[in-house]
Amino acid sequence: MKTNKDYSENLKQSGLKITKQRVAILDILDKSKQPIAAEEVYENLKSNNISINLSTVYRTLELLTSKNLVLKVSIDGNSKSLFETNNMMHKHYLICTECKKILDIYYCPLENYEKELEQETHFKISGHRLDIYGLCPQCQKKINGGKNNI
Ligand SMILES: [Zn+2]
Ligand SMILES: [Zn+2]
Repeated sequence: MKTNKDYSENLKQSGLKITKQRVAILDILDKSKQPIAAEEVYENLKSNNISINLSTVYRTLELLTSKNLVLKVSIDGNSKSLFETNNMMHKHYLICTECKKILDIYYCPLENYEKELEQETHFKISGHRLDIYGLCPQCQKKINGGKNNI
């Protein structure tokens, strides 16, 4: 895989040893279209024939999070922490409250607002969180369908 080089570089820059497991975990998170839980990372590693146990996956994810290579995402209504690679571009999430599907939103409506707020308050703003909740089209159909049957 040609992408492995980049992850090795990231690990090196963060002062971490390059191990097959760490590179594989970053690769899995990067390929996933949405943030995933440690268990899913673990399942993925197993199906790629990489031997690792679940507690090592947890520990590695925490380590990568502490080095900012990985972001931990907690979503209301979902007790599990989810992980994704930190590609240095912040994102927002649109979350279906029914099926817990998560869509990434790359557009940020708050960038100008942050600047205004800095001028107003003289804060040095370092970031923000914004998650948007709703019902996805499939769940709307399911729920509306249910109502019509009554
Ligand atoms: Zn849904
Ligand atoms: Zn934003």
